[in-house]
Amino acid sequence: MNDLVEPLDIDTDPSAHLALHSLLDEQTADAALSEREREVRSRTREVVARHVVPGAAHADETGEFVHESVQALAAAGLCGLVFPRELGGTADTSVAYALAIEEIAAGCAATSLVFMTQTHAAYPLLIAGSDEVRHRYIPGLLDGSRYGSLCITEPNAGSDVSSLHTTATPVEGGYALNGAKTFITTGDRADVIVCFASTDRTAGRAGVSAFVVDGSWGGVTHGTPFRKMGMHGSSTSEVFFDGVEVPAGHRLGAEGEGWSVVMNSVVKSRISAAAQGVGLARAAYARTLAALKRLHGPRLPDEDLFELAELRSRILQGRLLLHAVSRQVDAGQASTGHIGIMKKSCTDLGWDASVMATRLLGPYGDLTALGVERCLRDARVTQIYDGTNEIQRLLIGRETTRAMAGLT
Ligand SMILES: Cc1cc2nc3c(=O)[nH]c(=O)nc-3n(C[C@H](O)[C@H](O)[C@H](O)COP(=O)(O)OP(=O)(O)OC[C@H]3O[C@@H](n4cnc5c(N)ncnc54)[C@H](O)[C@@H]3O)c2cc1C
Repeated sequence: MNDLVEPLDIDTDPSAHLALHSLLDEQTADAALSEREREVRSRTREVVARHVVPGAAHADETGEFVHESVQALAAAGLCGLVFPRELGGTADTSVAYALAIEEIAAGCAATSLVFMTQTHAAYPLLIAGSDEVRHRYIPGLLDGSRYGSLCITEPNAGSDVSSLHTTATPVEGGYALNGAKTFITTGDRADVIVCFASTDRTAGRAGVSAFVVDGSWGGVTHGTPFRKMGMHGSSTSEVFFDGVEVPAGHRLGAEGEGWSVVMNSVVKSRISAAAQGVGLARAAYARTLAALKRLHGPRLPDEDLFELAELRSRILQGRLLLHAVSRQVDAGQASTGHIGIMKKSCTDLGWDASVMATRLLGPYGDLTALGVERCLRDARVTQIYDGTNEIQRLLIGRETTRAMAGLT
């Protein structure tokens, strides 16, 4: 019996996961991390090894929602990294947040998607919600007792937020919300829904407003999860709003400020997607090393070294870029172009590394038991959501054009 078709030790033995992933830490990247950031990483890695990895293959196979994994991360106090203490967070840096997502994605990308969506739902409340709204909804998202969703995409509007069809019509005391959202992460079960709708369809972007809606309110219908290429343990569905009565106090920011809420929030969500890309690349690399060792013993064949060197180099580059831009985000100095370069490069890295890993392993790369094909399937969508990589290229190019206009 060829034992390469059996699951790897890193999937069955938490200490093997911890040992291999610690070996892949790179001093050059770690040198710029604070002690606290390293502590967040090692705590996340520990929880991932013990409570996330053991259920990852099962969630991928069955599509079962990764509830237990997310609860374990919440119980360890990791769901509120970029939120203030008075709301249940830990006031950590965006770098710490990126490190946590990288760790989770390296163990189970679907869990990382649900985990980051909690932040994506809570963050607009933090930056644009009233005190009452923040205190009512954010703590439950951070302690894992409530699931959140961020509802932007519609059947005909995703990249182009200005063409939203969902409307928020002023009524006495608030708004009536009507429309349909699609491709919403955790949309089938969201208790806390941040929804973007048009308050003035003639005004394009300037007519978009943001609202927080309780998932249990009348008129909210949660769709059935779609079947997908990857991220099977996360759910993606439609969410329908049919005359949902939203109190005026549940608007986030002023009327027409929805676009700026989106733009300020995508800063964090693009860090999330980029960190998933780096984590998936590391997962593919770690799985390849573990499989090659099983196949050849400790001395890896020369013909594999070139590709392994390329993988390691690109992962280190991705990490350095992810950490540097996240640091700039915290300093308030990251440009849209730099955020785009990070998002595009790191998510392309997740895909490219998974492709390289499957090539290196030949037929073994195709085996479900080794988990490399899962990395490939999971990586694809990171290039699509949080602003597709084509849109990132557009933003990077526009920034360059603006800079060129300043040249004499
Ligand atoms: C698993 C999953 C989870 C998701 N989770 C969420 C979520 O939680 N909340 C949410 O709101 N959305 C979510 N989405 C939706 C996702 O963010 C959008 O699908 C994505 O932003 C693309 O927008 P779109 O669907 O309108 O596609 P389009 O904008 O129609 O894009 C279609 C294609 O055209 C390209 N394109 C579009 N405009 C241009 C342009 N100007 N120049 C060059 N190329 C262009 C795109 O890059 C893409 O390749 C999710 C999607 C998936 C698959």
